[in-house]
Amino acid sequence: MPNVIGYHAHVYFDPSTRSDAERLRDTIVSKFAVEPGGFSDEPRGPHPISQFNVMFQAGEFQSIVPWLMLNRAGLDVLIHPLTEDMVDDHSVYALWLGTPVALKLDTMQRRGYGAALLPAALAHEARQG
Ligand code: ZN
Repeated sequence: MPNVIGYHAHVYFDPSTRSDAERLRDTIVSKFAVEPGGFSDEPRGPHPISQFNVMFQAGEFQSIVPWLMLNRAGLDVLIHPLTEDMVDDHSVYALWLGTPVALKLDTMQRRGYGAALLPAALAHEARQG
């Protein structure tokens, strides 16, 4: 079984739901032990539409994921693990709340993540080897 070093939750939005996404992001950041990642209106990497992400360690999964199931404000959410294979993370290992978005899997390589995409404590451990 691959080693899971944390998770991302990506929340997708469009111009008409951007304010819902901003509110949801603020609530998540205030309620849970997450690190906010980028809020991008433009397509980025495998994400073909606007999204923001938050990063969290494995221990926070049981708190944030059940909450998101009930409080996603109608927005589509991708939750994916952080393993050493980001292609699998965004496809075979992906968990979707709502309607899956067709991701651009060919923009990724089969490897792990740079420090900017890992929760800080874990990125620090990764740098220490
Ligand atoms: Zn991600």
